[in-house]
Amino acid sequence: MNLWFTEDHSPYARFSFRVEEHLYTATSEFQKIDVFQTTEFGRILTLDGYVMVTEKDEFIYHDMIVHVPMATNPSIQKVLVIGAGDGGTVRELTRYPSIKKIDMVEIDEQVVKVCQEFLPQTAAQLTDPRVTLYFEDGLKFVRQQENAYDLIIVDSTDPFGPGEGLFTKEFYGNCYKALNEQGILVNQHESPFYAEDARGMQRAHKSIMGFFPVSKVYQAHIPTYPSGHWLFGLASKKYDPIEDLDSDAWNALGLQTKYYNTKLHVGSFALPNYVKELLIHA
Ligand code: SAM
Repeated sequence: MNLWFTEDHSPYARFSFRVEEHLYTATSEFQKIDVFQTTEFGRILTLDGYVMVTEKDEFIYHDMIVHVPMATNPSIQKVLVIGAGDGGTVRELTRYPSIKKIDMVEIDEQVVKVCQEFLPQTAAQLTDPRVTLYFEDGLKFVRQQENAYDLIIVDSTDPFGPGEGLFTKEFYGNCYKALNEQGILVNQHESPFYAEDARGMQRAHKSIMGFFPVSKVYQAHIPTYPSGHWLFGLASKKYDPIEDLDSDAWNALGLQTKYYNTKLHVGSFALPNYVKELLIHA
């Protein structure tokens, strides 16, 4: 047996994982869900054939989507997480005793159940008493919120299928309304490297800039996402992620992180020239 899982990263480039066992497969109301045991990356979760999480490199994504906004405003207490069914984002948030409430809105309950069974590394903290799980469309959920959150994290699939609505102007406008006056919005911002992903990233950036006075992009190296070069967007009503970073306060928390540190926080906003060009022309 020589089994491989292959994902198309562009129409002309592919990434393959050596598979030891196909642990789970099913099609939910929203998408095809698979879990594979791979040799190099441990267990991986795929949705509709796209890698969402691997045991080996998930720490990079979850460190960067959570600790960058948390170090920018250490007084964050009320958080809304959209998507994120694997639980890794919530796991990192629950490490902050200062956070009082985490609402997580995931469209597909089956993703959560599968991750609780096969990926306890990411899903184990979904039972934290501060967490309330809502199984509904994040687009609809934010429409009903006003002035309710300090931080919104959009940890979604790519801009097609159920995730499409989470990259629209309507959604970003509703996120603005759902945040209070010191609110921060962080979202996964796709990769700048391959043309189709870059266009999605430009569209998202342009739409967010239309609502928020502060709108920045930062980067991380994530080996299993297309090209390995991944972007996040940080938009805010008040806080600047570099000027307002209080490194001493964050370091005093004593959180052990495998990827994030406060020097890297600053460096992650220093973008390559080709990415700056893409953002200028968004
Ligand atoms: N880290 C991942 C990535 O960037 O590839 C994302 C992981 S997480 C599993 C993405 C989740 O977003 C999926 O479980 C999917 O069901 C959920 N999702 C997609 N569209 C959604 C929507 N409209 N509302 C809420 N959740 C949604």
